[in-house]
Amino acid sequence: MQSKKLKLIHLGILLCLSVFAFSTHSAAQQKDGLLKIYFFDVGQGDAIFIEAPNGNQVLIDGGPDNMVVQKLGETMPFYDKDIDLVVMTHSDADHVTGLIEVLKRYEVESIVYSNIVRDSALYGAWQEAVGEEDANIADPVSGKVIDLGSGVTLTIVHPAESLASQKMEKTNNDSVVLTLKYGEMEVLLAGDIEAKAERQIILNSNLVEGAPPQGLNADILKVGHHGSKTSTTGEFLYEVSPQVAIIQVGAKNRYGHPTQEVLKRLEDYGIRYYRTDTDGDIKVVSDGENYQIITANSNLLIF
Ligand SMILES: [Zn+2]
Repeated sequence: MQSKKLKLIHLGILLCLSVFAFSTHSAAQQKDGLLKIYFFDVGQGDAIFIEAPNGNQVLIDGGPDNMVVQKLGETMPFYDKDIDLVVMTHSDADHVTGLIEVLKRYEVESIVYSNIVRDSALYGAWQEAVGEEDANIADPVSGKVIDLGSGVTLTIVHPAESLASQKMEKTNNDSVVLTLKYGEMEVLLAGDIEAKAERQIILNSNLVEGAPPQGLNADILKVGHHGSKTSTTGEFLYEVSPQVAIIQVGAKNRYGHPTQEVLKRLEDYGIRYYRTDTDGDIKVVSDGENYQIITANSNLLIF
């Protein structure tokens, strides 16, 4: 018999013990001990869906249109209309647009985003959708840890300080950057940050008390800004030292993403990369030790 379970999510537990509870209604929780991460092919934009082994679900960004709704429909059970946590990394159209429809269609328990001031109709629509959602809102600041349960955590790596109420129009370098950790497996989700924020993150990672000795080291890097040449510097790749990179990017996009410069940097560092424009949806499955990368064309198991 499936009982409604209370789960705890700890936002900023190190700083202020602001602990709140949320409930999960997913009856389809699979007790297989596996973390699943879906990098959806939503064209030129980001949309990342995470399902912890206990069934807790997180959506990070929503892509440039409502394609994410279709992707969620294909991934979640048809009766599951709850998402535990939505993270909006920054308010550019290719990240926030689909999230507005997600908030309308799903019951979202918690929302993490920088509540900046920005003069844009789209951002206004997002703010309105957030206002209509009866969700817990949390301000992202580096060091805060979100406990998804069953040993899975999301740690906020960037921004270093709250951006609430700050007026800004260019927000790439203020993207929310997160580390997803399950056992020995780590994924760094870099939003749309560019070289400037990569540098700040490297500097801050040396200052954070209790940071693991390997610093920013991660198995998988979701590269910043769709493979733009202004992101994914050699210095950053050296610090993160991923085995695998994932590029969320649209086919034949007008920005020329991903750039040859970034692809070459990845190759120079011996990093295998996947890209949604050519690989389609990219699914990562992990038991906390090993992980598997599944696309329509390949199935790679990494130990
Ligand atoms: Zn973007």
